[in-house]
Amino acid sequence: MNRRDFSRRSIALGVSALAVPAGAQAPEYYQEAAKRLPARHFDVVIAGGGTAGVVAALAAARQGAKTVLVENKGYTGGVAVEGGTALHSFFNLWKAFPGVQKRQVVKGIPQEIVDRLMSMGGCTGHAEMLKHYDYDSVCTAIDTEIYKLATMQMLHEAGVAVWVNTFLAGAFRSSGSRLSGVIVESRSGREAVFAKSFVDCTGFGDLAAHAGAKFTEPNDYAVANSIGVGNVDIERMCDFLKSKNSLTQFARGRRSGKDDQIVRFGGESVSFSAEFNAEARQLGLSMITTTTHDNYFMFIKLNLKMPVSPTNRDESARAELELRTRQYKAIDLLKRYVPGCEKAFIARTSPSFSIRRARLIACDYDVTLPDILEARHFDDDVFVYGFHDSAPRLKVGGGGTYGIPYRALLPAGIENLLVAGMMITSNHDAHMSTRNTVSCMGHGQAAGTAAALCAARKRGTRELAYADLRRALVKDNVYFE
Ligand SMILES: Cc1cc2nc3c(=O)[nH]c(=O)nc-3n(C[C@H](O)[C@H](O)[C@H](O)COP(=O)(O)OP(=O)(O)OC[C@H]3O[C@@H](n4cnc5c(N)ncnc54)[C@H](O)[C@@H]3O)c2cc1C
Repeated sequence: MNRRDFSRRSIALGVSALAVPAGAQAPEYYQEAAKRLPARHFDVVIAGGGTAGVVAALAAARQGAKTVLVENKGYTGGVAVEGGTALHSFFNLWKAFPGVQKRQVVKGIPQEIVDRLMSMGGCTGHAEMLKHYDYDSVCTAIDTEIYKLATMQMLHEAGVAVWVNTFLAGAFRSSGSRLSGVIVESRSGREAVFAKSFVDCTGFGDLAAHAGAKFTEPNDYAVANSIGVGNVDIERMCDFLKSKNSLTQFARGRRSGKDDQIVRFGGESVSFSAEFNAEARQLGLSMITTTTHDNYFMFIKLNLKMPVSPTNRDESARAELELRTRQYKAIDLLKRYVPGCEKAFIARTSPSFSIRRARLIACDYDVTLPDILEARHFDDDVFVYGFHDSAPRLKVGGGGTYGIPYRALLPAGIENLLVAGMMITSNHDAHMSTRNTVSCMGHGQAAGTAAALCAARKRGTRELAYADLRRALVKDNVYFE
């Protein structure tokens, strides 16, 4: 059958064309038939098993809620295992503020994950930064593969139904502002999942968008595909950076089972050769790396600014090809110019590019930049945080913390949906703080706990007594001040 015959046949089968202006390409539609779907029932649905979602699901299940975690990929961890260099940050920025005390300001489930990783040889520990400590005072780097296993094990132990390789494809409401269920798809087919409370941790805000929440797509960040690089000599590489006066970040911690090893180093390319600098700039190459193992480093970042939001499929496909081309060129560049990298190769990539934000969900409160810089706290704080990714330019006031209020996790106009992760906070500079991994985990613990309490009490998210939520969070070792 040639293309024209195929098109005619398609129209006969139910593909319809709408009237469009002369000369324009007619959009075509296919009317999908209604289907009877198998129905499943839970107390809490967590959509997205990434940075925030893992913690949200653990929190909900530990409150006794029958919890399902719907994750598109075959593992959990999200951008924490695909995009970044280190988990920023469990501590206040004490090193940048002489006289300020060192405080671990994020504990709870995020710290439990670190403990589990440490016991499995998959974390540097909270290694103190010896250079650039006006940016972050510690470096907590992870073995990305062990993180996937550790979090999946923890979820199973907590009794969460972990539906990996399952895509959340829709949502439906019963009454005006109440969400009844979601539609998921996997190789087992399409299913309807009913629940009392829902948490969107998809990063992209897929559930909130399907549920009819208001959102914007600022498209104000580059996308990136990070690489794990194997067969490298960390010590030689660091010596080279030092000799070029280019070592800007440095920390020592646990690596390959031994303490006091180099685990983080950053190299400004300013003192490299002009050719290296020109090629690195073209590739969007950022030379800040961490490692938990000898002969390996993680996360050479390659940034690419897309012309439209990364929710656009066709532009995303173009970006995936471009980023993989850049990865190949970046390794070649390292092999040619950086001692210790002569035999480097790409040991791991992410299944798809990572984004710092895509959809931004409108919530009852929007954390502002002054909230962060002035270290403000709220009557309904559910989490406190002390890191800003634009430090030392922008820092949390006085080396302290600011609070994320419960209201910031409640999408406007929907009564039983919460959000957690990179989809909150509209101001770009404020988002440079709230979007970081440890912050997303903190929102996750708060949102998962609240979702479970609401389900147990048959309450909407705005009817939950804050004192009950706070008590539950404190009991689960969340730090407040
Ligand atoms: C390149 C890059 C580098 C970064 N570097 C750092 C760093 O060094 N340190 C730091 O602290 N932060 C860093 N960040 C920021 C931080 O990693 C992210 O903001 C954070 O991890 C986002 O967490 P999240 O839970 O919102 O989303 P994610 O971790 O992305 O989780 C979302 C999950 O939802 C799943 N999902 C999405 N849609 C669906 C669907 N429809 N159905 C089912 N599942 C779905 C995804 O597969 C994913 O697992 C970086 C970000 C990027 C992009």
